[in-house]
Amino acid sequence: MKISHIEHLGIAVPSIEKALPYFENVLGLKCYNIEVVEDQKVKTAFLKVGEVKLELLEPTSPESTIAKFIEKNGGRGGMHHLAFCIEDGVANALAEAEGLGIALIDKAPRKGAEGLNIAFLHPKSTAAVLTELCENPNK
Ligand code: ZN
Repeated sequence: MKISHIEHLGIAVPSIEKALPYFENVLGLKCYNIEVVEDQKVKTAFLKVGEVKLELLEPTSPESTIAKFIEKNGGRGGMHHLAFCIEDGVANALAEAEGLGIALIDKAPRKGAEGLNIAFLHPKSTAAVLTELCENPNK
């Protein structure tokens, strides 16, 4: 697969409203988009750091995987996943990874926040870092 850059870092937070003042007032970053992704039962907030984004993830339901992650981390959340921008397409990258014996969470790309096509690799195959592959279909 051909990775062009880190698309974003995913950070799980119990409350976007409570987390944003740190990122905006202390780090001086600007939140430019807040979006609910029904499919993943999360509300997301995006901030830009150069070309890389931070994606804050707040659960919208107790069944959300983000809710379970926060619960496991003593209610605090924290670094959740690393997302790469794939130049030659997420579907290709998934097929290639599967061929190399990597465990996949998603067998096929699906729609993520900001209209991106996304898919997750399983952390048991990725040095314990939950890894998201992204492509912008409108580019
Ligand atoms: Zn993400």
